[in-house]
Amino acid sequence: MTRVLKFGGTSMGGADNIKNVANIIKNYKQNGDNVVAVVSAMGGETNKLISLANSISKDPIALEMDTLLSSGERVSSSLLSICLNDMGIKAISLSGRQAGITTDDNHNKAKIDKINSSNLQQYIKDGYTAIVAGFQGFANNRVTTLGRGGSDLTAVAIAGSIQADVCEIYTDVQGIYTADPRVVPNAKKLEQISYDEMLELSSLGAKVLQSRSVELAKKLDVKLISRSSFEPNTTGTTITKEENIVEQPIVSGIATDDDQVRVGIYKVIDRPGIAGQIFSKLAFAGINVDMIVQTVGTDGTTDLDFTVPTVSINETKKCMKKFEHECKYIDYNEKISKVSVVGLGMKSHTGVAADAFMALANNNINIRIISTSEIKISMIIDKDKSKRAVQALHDIYKLDQ
Ligand code: ASP
Ligand code: MG
Repeated sequence: MTRVLKFGGTSMGGADNIKNVANIIKNYKQNGDNVVAVVSAMGGETNKLISLANSISKDPIALEMDTLLSSGERVSSSLLSICLNDMGIKAISLSGRQAGITTDDNHNKAKIDKINSSNLQQYIKDGYTAIVAGFQGFANNRVTTLGRGGSDLTAVAIAGSIQADVCEIYTDVQGIYTADPRVVPNAKKLEQISYDEMLELSSLGAKVLQSRSVELAKKLDVKLISRSSFEPNTTGTTITKEENIVEQPIVSGIATDDDQVRVGIYKVIDRPGIAGQIFSKLAFAGINVDMIVQTVGTDGTTDLDFTVPTVSINETKKCMKKFEHECKYIDYNEKISKVSVVGLGMKSHTGVAADAFMALANNNINIRIISTSEIKISMIIDKDKSKRAVQALHDIYKLDQ
C-alpha cells in the first residue's frame, strides 16, 4: 500500500512531536507500506517569518516572501528526515522543486501546474521515505508558495500524481465532527463524509482541511483521512466519493460562519442589468458573494440582500459606492452568523428544512435570509444567537446518536 501522510504545524511542533511523527511512519514502514510524508512548517513558524518581514518592510516583495516562507517547511522536512535516519529508516527530504512540483508564477498564491514525480517514484522504489516540504513549488527558477494552509494541497496533489491508495492528513484533532465540539459538547466524530459535504462544512473544518485541497481530492479521486498524530490509534474521518458512502445520513453536520456581513441594498431601481452590474463589479474585485436574495419588486424598485466575508467589507464598500445613487440606502450588518445544515440525504428526504426552521423558531431565533442547495440549507441569524442555533439544530437531527 502506498500512503501519503501529511503532518501539520502542531504535529511537527518541536523535537518530541517530530519523534512522534517518525514513529507513525516507522509503523507503516514495518508493515511493508510505501510512505511519502508531506510536512508543514513547525507551528507558528510561518507567522513568525511574516512578522519579521513586516518589521523590515511595509510591503515585502512577493518573490522574496516565497523564498522566506518556504524555508519553514524545509526546516521541518530535514528534521524529520534526520530523525528517521537516526531510527534506522532510510529517508530523504525534498523541497517542492526536488519533488517536481511546478506552479504558475503567482507568488504567494501559486497554483500547481504539474508534478513530475519520477524523482519521487525512484526514491519509493529504492525503499526511501521521501519527505516533501509542503506549501511550495517553483516557477521560472524561483520558489513559489501555494497560499496559507497550502501543505494540504501539496499532499493531495502528490497523492494524485503517484496514485497513492490514501492521503492521511494529521492534525491535532481526531477528524471531522457533526459540529464544532467547543460549541456543541455532544458533537460526534464522523466515520465518513463525502467531498461535497466536506466542502460545505469547510467553515467548520477549515482548520482541519484546507478547502482547495478537498476540491483537488475530489477532482483526482484521492481518498482523504483526517486524523490526529497525537492519537494515532484512533481512526479518523474518511472523506471520499458519494458512491462509497453506504449509509447516507440525512444530515451530516452543522456549520457556522461568524465572519460574514449582510449587505442590504434597499429600493434599488428595478431595471434590467442592475444585478449584473453589481455582482460583476464584486466578482472582478475577487469578493466571494454568497446568499443572494432579491425580493419581488413593487413600485419600480426592489431590495437586494447578499453576504460577503467580513475580511472583504472595505473592498465591498468601495465597489458599492458606484451604486449608491441607484438606491435609497445601503446597509452593512456585521452582527450576523450563517448557520448551515449539511447532508447528502437531503436530496432524497423531505421535511429537512421544515425541521430546521421549527428548531430555530422554538428557540425564538429569527431567520433573516434562507438559501438552499441540493445538500445544504443556510440561514442568516443574529450573531449572538449562533451558538444556541447550532445546538438546537444538532439536537433536532439527533446528531449525537
Ligand atoms: N506553513 C504554511 C502555513 O502556515 C503552510 C501550511 O502549514 O500548510 O500556512
Ligand atoms: Mg494546515
